[in-house]
Amino acid sequence: MNFVMERSNETRIERANQAKKKRNRLIITINLILLSAIALTVILSYNIRQEQSGATLPKLTTLNSKQPDSLVPSDDHKQASTKDQNKGQDQKKDPQLPAAKGDKSPSQDSKIATDATAAALQKTKIVYLTFDDGPNQYTDQILNILSKNDIHATFFMIGSQLQDEKSSVERLIHEGHYPGLHSMSHNYNQLYKSGSSEHFIQEFKQEQALLYKLTGVKSSLIRAPYGSAPQIGYNFRTDIFEAGFKMWDWTVDSKDWSYEGKPDKVVQQVKRQIHRKQEVILMHEKKQTVQALPQIIAYLQHQGYSFAVYKPDHHVVVNFGKDSRL
Ligand SMILES: [Zn+2]
Repeated sequence: MNFVMERSNETRIERANQAKKKRNRLIITINLILLSAIALTVILSYNIRQEQSGATLPKLTTLNSKQPDSLVPSDDHKQASTKDQNKGQDQKKDPQLPAAKGDKSPSQDSKIATDATAAALQKTKIVYLTFDDGPNQYTDQILNILSKNDIHATFFMIGSQLQDEKSSVERLIHEGHYPGLHSMSHNYNQLYKSGSSEHFIQEFKQEQALLYKLTGVKSSLIRAPYGSAPQIGYNFRTDIFEAGFKMWDWTVDSKDWSYEGKPDKVVQQVKRQIHRKQEVILMHEKKQTVQALPQIIAYLQHQGYSFAVYKPDHHVVVNFGKDSRL
């Protein structure tokens, strides 16, 4: 009797197990079908996008416009994007590469998509090189290095030096760099000691007029000598804003002025601080900076940065007070 009951129990359990297994198999099959459908949709929509854009890589401009912080489709940046798209077209011509084939396998497609997206995202890293306290005897050497690397930079020049180095200032503007203002005197006491913005603004207006007289360019971007913090507070900034200026500080301080005869230290300092998607590097027109510059540029290129120059039409806010008016 017990034996019969045990048998029938076993049979019930066996049947239940079999039913369970069947259910599981059915669920797995349905899941697999769903996953395949999703994968197919993704692949198809990617192909359609590619055909619409006419390029093998996703359009970088589209990606950039989605980034609220990345401003700057500067000329340099646009050049980088164009180069990338050309790369894509080259791939199309090469029959060896999967991108050119009509019969792409899903794994090839997803790999291309991943590579392209990674490359595009990397390209959104932007760095602005800025050089303060010129123009002087090093300006032309800096311009030579920049020109050799096809890079444009932003210069914050001292007004009292403009006249003597007029040819360097003209060259700088002619070669596509931005001439920023850095006060007439660069004198801390004169600029800040009173606590009022009056003399500060007067110096910058004077320099703005002088640069205009010498070159015909009206610059509105200033950099406060010694940086805007802590000497420039909210009311001071309001006055700067109302005078029609924009003001830049920096995100990376190369401390180059303190490393006389030690260009390696300058390079190290920059390497240590670089990590943001958008960096503004403070440098000065000094001998050690000229010596360090090629290595700094090579490092930034290796890190995937695109070099940008300040453009008034694509202004980005870079000041210690995070004041969006400036
Ligand atoms: Zn300075």
